[in-house]
Amino acid sequence: MNILLMGLPGAGKGTQSEHIVKDYPVIHIATGDIFREAIKNETPLGLKAKSYTDHGNLVPDDVTNAIVRERLEKDDVKTNGFMLDGYPRTSVQAQALDQNLAELNTQIDAVIYIDVDPEVLKDRLSGRIICRNCGATYHRIYNPPKVDGVCDNCGSTDFYQREDDKPEKVAHRINLQMESIRPILDYYEERGLLHKINGQQDIEDVYRDVRDILATIK
Ligand code: ADP
Ligand code: AMP
Repeated sequence: MNILLMGLPGAGKGTQSEHIVKDYPVIHIATGDIFREAIKNETPLGLKAKSYTDHGNLVPDDVTNAIVRERLEKDDVKTNGFMLDGYPRTSVQAQALDQNLAELNTQIDAVIYIDVDPEVLKDRLSGRIICRNCGATYHRIYNPPKVDGVCDNCGSTDFYQREDDKPEKVAHRINLQMESIRPILDYYEERGLLHKINGQQDIEDVYRDVRDILATIK
């Protein structure tokens, strides 16, 4: 199963991915996570990406395409399929992905777009907190840990807010990505791959809609 999980920042891609990987063997590939990890480890990729992610801008297409291509070539992806989260985000990336998949002799089975109003996204991003130990995502109000201050997944009490989720960065990220995502949605819709779901429901209800789509893939 090869799927793309698309949506503006804060739409719930990471949250739905956490559910999907518990039920399906697909490999979760989130370009944002790859960049954050590289920045934390101060690798050459991290040094390149930092100036873009710090300002909420997109990392250049050639850099992003290369890291995705490299990841798609790994054996675990060939065996289990992929779930790309946050990629592609530009038309150039969508075209590069098609070319890479053709070369790797595989294809996209479904594109799931989680649709959420931009005003709602601002609230979601400003309340997002992440477990520093395992990366699980919560929201201070809409999706708090079951026990206050303790990660459901690993028991850690160490949470952080992403630098680019600070209020002054959020509007820029949403506006920028609204522009770039539109042509890609058209591109996949024309090919009959696009499934839009309502992301303004409870997390469990969004996941029910995701599962309904995944059930249609052989
Ligand atoms: P993305 O990966 O698309 O940027 P996340 O999955 O990190 O988005 O979700 C952004 C924030 O919104 C997180 O704080 C998350 O807990 C919260 N969230 C996710 N889905 C929902 C939902 N359906 N309703 C309310 N809050 C949600
Ligand atoms: P995300 O975790 O998906 O919100 O991504 C965090 C940041 O990583 C974005 O604001 C961009 O700077 C960068 N990024 C993630 N995915 C991409 C992509 N497909 N193309 C370019 N930049 C990306």
